[in-house]
Amino acid sequence: MPRVGLSELFALGRVITNGQLLRYPRGAKGYTHRFETRLAEMTGASHVLTVNSGTNALITALAAAGIGPGDEVLVPAYTWMATAIAPLAVGAVPVLVDIDETLTMDPLDIERRLSPYTKAIIPVHMLNLVCNMDAIMEIARRNELIVIEDAAQAVGVSYKERRTGSIGHLGAYSFNHFKNITSGEGGAVLTSDRGYFERARMYHDPGSFMRGHGEASEPLFAGLNFRVSELTGAVLWAQLAKLDPFLRRLRRRHPIVARTFADLPNCRLSPHNDPENAVALSVIFDDPEEARVFGRTRGAERLLDTDRHVFVNWEAVLSKRAFHPKMNPHAWANREITYLPDDYARTLEILSRTCRVSLGAQYPLPVMQWQKRSLRNAASRAGAVGAAVPA
Ligand SMILES: *Cc1c(COP(=O)(O)O)cnc(C)c1O
Repeated sequence: MPRVGLSELFALGRVITNGQLLRYPRGAKGYTHRFETRLAEMTGASHVLTVNSGTNALITALAAAGIGPGDEVLVPAYTWMATAIAPLAVGAVPVLVDIDETLTMDPLDIERRLSPYTKAIIPVHMLNLVCNMDAIMEIARRNELIVIEDAAQAVGVSYKERRTGSIGHLGAYSFNHFKNITSGEGGAVLTSDRGYFERARMYHDPGSFMRGHGEASEPLFAGLNFRVSELTGAVLWAQLAKLDPFLRRLRRRHPIVARTFADLPNCRLSPHNDPENAVALSVIFDDPEEARVFGRTRGAERLLDTDRHVFVNWEAVLSKRAFHPKMNPHAWANREITYLPDDYARTLEILSRTCRVSLGAQYPLPVMQWQKRSLRNAASRAGAVGAAVPA
């Protein structure tokens, strides 16, 4: 992620000097508003609403789309668990879908997991790797489903000349500490649908009707408070200027690192849904043991070992418990939803053989070249280790 530095400090200084920490300062338009306008221009989404986390961006998007009790929402079996928790927060239940080797939702498996109660799909662009959005939007169109892109891990990334978050009916970004740009915590909802935007704004701010937004065409309902302060808006405004340079840095490094793994006998690059615009990379081994060994190298990580990103480790979701038994979405579901490892063996199998590889964007090119060589050596050494393990 880009560094936080002087430009963030300068913007924060202006907010503090001004003394107006609410994101709706009297009179002038503040940093948060400018951030939203600029992000909308960059992504092509007509409306952007900043909220205080990526999780709340997903929840707000689901609420805006009218998803609720009795509804099923498809989420991938490999994602940060917030993707599965968001449907529960609006009373719906998550139904898991296998990933394919691109590490994103397998469109063929989406078709298999559909039920008469499916209302929405949340495809997740994991690790800056984009989903097969053409196929997903087509399935959604045929089955009248709402698509909410979880682009928390791929803020600003392009898929076939369009930006993630702007392709589905709604999109969610996260700006927490680990994402492409950061304000420590933060998120955004993107949409080009005026009605969804109005409902999102109502949901994220119980006082939205008093803020001079003008008459809304959507009927008013009681929302929560997921607003950001101008402090967050100021940091995001400064960070946004660094997003495209950061993505360009990744994109320049991609072919250099990709070539490194091109001719190794024991592993290959994972397929990518838009190879021309790739800004991230993973490699897939034939043997899980080799992936495990390679995953211990600096700059690499085996995906099966990434804890709460793998559904078998989502204890809170798997328990099907809620903070109050009468507020449990599983009690409102139209059928019993299960999360058995055997039903998603394909996801586990792919994750056991796949390693994420860092493109070394934080290093200058010569250091990154050195890292690249050490990764290549580690991958071929892993081959030797793997071969030594009896089958
Ligand atoms: C980070 C993340 C979220 C949630 O974002 P927060 O800002 O941490 O709430 C949701 N989905 C995915 C895929 C993420 O990586």
